[in-house]
Amino acid sequence: MIRETFPVGPLQCNCTILGDETTREAIVVDPGDNIPGILRRLAQHGLTLKQIIVTHAHIDHVGGAVSLKRATGAPILLNQNDLPLLAMMNMQADWLGIATPEVATPDQSAEDGLKVGLPGLTAEVLHTPGHTEGSVCLHFAPQKLLLAGDTLFAGSIGRTDLPGGNSQKILRSLHDRLLVLPDETHVVPGHGIETTIGVERESNPYLQPGFRLD
Ligand SMILES: [Zn+2]
Repeated sequence: MIRETFPVGPLQCNCTILGDETTREAIVVDPGDNIPGILRRLAQHGLTLKQIIVTHAHIDHVGGAVSLKRATGAPILLNQNDLPLLAMMNMQADWLGIATPEVATPDQSAEDGLKVGLPGLTAEVLHTPGHTEGSVCLHFAPQKLLLAGDTLFAGSIGRTDLPGGNSQKILRSLHDRLLVLPDETHVVPGHGIETTIGVERESNPYLQPGFRLD
């Protein structure tokens, strides 16, 4: 497996390229910005992009998806529960004081249980509402890898005070969908440093028994 994770854009969203060394096919998760940089990395590895998967429709994660699709022809997957956020791209751009990126209806909804990725590098979509209603995580079970979007961070969890956020739902998603994964699962969050399910289970203050968000 080829994996490159690197921050893009003003909010430093973690964009991830996953590639199959044999078939030279790839997926890109959360191409929020810097599409020239993503295309350069794909070319450096000789990878052909097959799928663009967006963990949720915040501008810093989805902002470059349409231009990456235009450059490669790869389809965009985004959970349909985030379509209202996609329709608010002007407002999201205003919050950050940046230009509004082009958006388009996703080619397919990233539904819970959907298998995505490549033949030898397949993830199950885990619908984990809370940060946004359509937030998803991608679980590559054989690779013991979780791309967590903005649901789980090293030592923290996603904010729930933006439109579509819900603190009860994110805690339920974290406990019911993520903490059930094996401790050794490597976690790539949507921002910041990487971690594991075991480390977060042990030390993340938001995941301790009895923790409540009001
Ligand atoms: Zn977000």
